[in-house]
Amino acid sequence: MKKKITDYDIKNKKVIIRCDLNVPIKDGIIQDDTRIRASLETINYCLDNGASVIILSHLGKVKSDEDKKKNSLYPVCVRLSELLGREVLFSHDTRSDNLTRMCNNLKIGDVLLIENTRFEDLNGNKESGCDLDLAKYWASLGDLFINDAYGTCHRAHASNVGISKYLESGLGFLVINEVSKLDNIINEDTHPYVVIMGGAKVVDKIKVIENLVSKCDKLLIGGGMAYTFLKALDYNVGNSLVDTESIDFCKRMLDSYQDKIVLPVDSVVSESLDSDKCLEKDINKFNDLDMGLDIGSKTIELFKDNLKDAKRVIMNGPMGVFENKLYENGTREILEYLAKNNIKTLIGGGDSVSSVNKFNLANSFYHVSTGGGATLEYLEGKILPGIGAISDE
Ligand code: ADP
Ligand code: MG
Repeated sequence: MKKKITDYDIKNKKVIIRCDLNVPIKDGIIQDDTRIRASLETINYCLDNGASVIILSHLGKVKSDEDKKKNSLYPVCVRLSELLGREVLFSHDTRSDNLTRMCNNLKIGDVLLIENTRFEDLNGNKESGCDLDLAKYWASLGDLFINDAYGTCHRAHASNVGISKYLESGLGFLVINEVSKLDNIINEDTHPYVVIMGGAKVVDKIKVIENLVSKCDKLLIGGGMAYTFLKALDYNVGNSLVDTESIDFCKRMLDSYQDKIVLPVDSVVSESLDSDKCLEKDINKFNDLDMGLDIGSKTIELFKDNLKDAKRVIMNGPMGVFENKLYENGTREILEYLAKNNIKTLIGGGDSVSSVNKFNLANSFYHVSTGGGATLEYLEGKILPGIGAISDE
């Protein structure tokens, strides 16, 4: 087990928190401050317990001086200060004597936000490449390191993994919550345990499928990835998305887990995503121009039937091109079924979370996981480097 923020006495300490303040910003205006709000719990805990706080975060990717202008954390500093109801100091430098001095002068209750950690990437990829001199410098600014940036836990960067080598460290509330929800649903011994997978390509999800299929009772496959499985069974899937390099993998899965894997029996097809014409077809009726863009109504019923008695569900990947009104039905119906029947469900994956938000179901599930890539790697069964690096209990 990893140490948590609550395992430390932080009174009079300078706590360095790696937050995920990577919010969308357009022309200097924050479009959605959810991630800033989500970071408040750990920051406020530190302030309420007599610490001062130094915050590290990235914002977007920084590959050029042009990116630097667009990706300053300064607007986040202003918003954070409003949300905390107190001044937040800002360091325009990611590494300087001035920053060192600012940190030395921090008093109990002070909060300092350091400029985008990825500005260091212009200086030879020092943040993303986990440069240890940089990590050691950041560690020198405080007394304790807390990782609260779940969405970057699958990356080994200087501001999460590197810094942990030089300081006592622990997990913040956001990471604790994500990990405990994931562990709970993965390890709980209740059945039927159903996994629903969809989204675009099989190749992105091979390790997730491999890890989950052996443990679950049923694996329902929809979305674009279903057509590679159907192709592996020699169906004519027309112009549907197929990733040829994964056909052998699909064959192997179907051979080993034929009793568990449930594939679509019909689809909503069209000849083009731009066309406003679409119709439902059984899987064995596709012609060469048909493109399967959503699961059909028989499949929706088939999937619901398989979910009827489920005690826990993990869902990753939408059932169709839900961004388009014509192909949103499968994803919406399955999500609504899970919500309405109070089935203990964890939803993970960036686009899956967008679909949950689109259908106003964000508060209807056991957990909607915020970290796209991090959650996928967790579901692969990996120890995320940002968590692995934290001090053991
Ligand atoms: P997540 O981010 O939840 O892990 P993915 O990134 O794997 O999910 O896939 C999401 C994308 O898959 C969506 O943009 C959606 O439009 C697309 N998709 C879903 N079904 C199909 C389909 N039948 N054909 C093509 N693309 C699809
Ligand atoms: Mg995605």
